[in-house]
Amino acid sequence: MKIMLMTDLEGVAGVLNNHDWTSPDGRFNEKGMRLLTEEVNAAVDGLFAGGAREVIIVDGHGSGAIDPEILDERAQLSRGRHEQVWPWGLDNTFHGLGFVGQHAKAGTPYSHITHTQNMRYIDLSINGVSIGEYGQLALCAMELGIPTIFACGEQALAVEAENLTPGVITVAVKRGLLPDGLDHLSAEEYKKAKLSAIHVSPKKSRALIRHGAFKAAERLRNDPRSFSYPKFAPPYVRTARFRTLEDKPAYQARDEHPNSITSLMNMPFTPLVTP
Ligand SMILES: [Zn+2]
Repeated sequence: MKIMLMTDLEGVAGVLNNHDWTSPDGRFNEKGMRLLTEEVNAAVDGLFAGGAREVIIVDGHGSGAIDPEILDERAQLSRGRHEQVWPWGLDNTFHGLGFVGQHAKAGTPYSHITHTQNMRYIDLSINGVSIGEYGQLALCAMELGIPTIFACGEQALAVEAENLTPGVITVAVKRGLLPDGLDHLSAEEYKKAKLSAIHVSPKKSRALIRHGAFKAAERLRNDPRSFSYPKFAPPYVRTARFRTLEDKPAYQARDEHPNSITSLMNMPFTPLVTP
């Protein structure tokens, strides 16, 4: 079994905020990278114990967040964009998709460092279903017929994952403390608005992740049909709403593709012209 693990930094236990931990000039960025890489190692260990034979780690954080030096030697690391951004190198040679360090989508209450791609998004939807970074890649996997088997990160992400992809095995390692309803904020304001959380200790998070990843691989081997996706039918319509950013105004976008969500995701946004 060959598994892709998409990774991000904001959903890791012990990553306490964005300014110190997730940006390359943050004073704890290196420590944050170590925390993510150790969570990834725990997932890799669980996946191999559950029957995986190959695991590709995708470093999906904007500025990079995997420390290659301490990565489990059985894993391979993918960094840098492919010919097309989506689906991040996922293809029919893979048997399953998992996530480590993932955060919930923009607008999610009781989420931590909440965002989709960047702080400007208010919402992104495909055919009326609101999705975040998790959903974007999961729907690409759906299109390839590859099950999404595992998701760890904050608790709000675990709920988002279970709702979108029934059967996925989730592990929650922190819980955001603040509600949302902040669509009126600018991107700069939203970036500072959701920075409170209660974290599982990193050591405990790794134990939980190892166990969850083991169960996910084992179930993929024994009962692959237990992982499922919602029904989507073409044509596919992507709608998006964005906040103000510096001197740029808020705007909405709408795009459509006749037969592929992945292709739709690779299209630039077409702003709606407001009269
Ligand atoms: Zn992210």
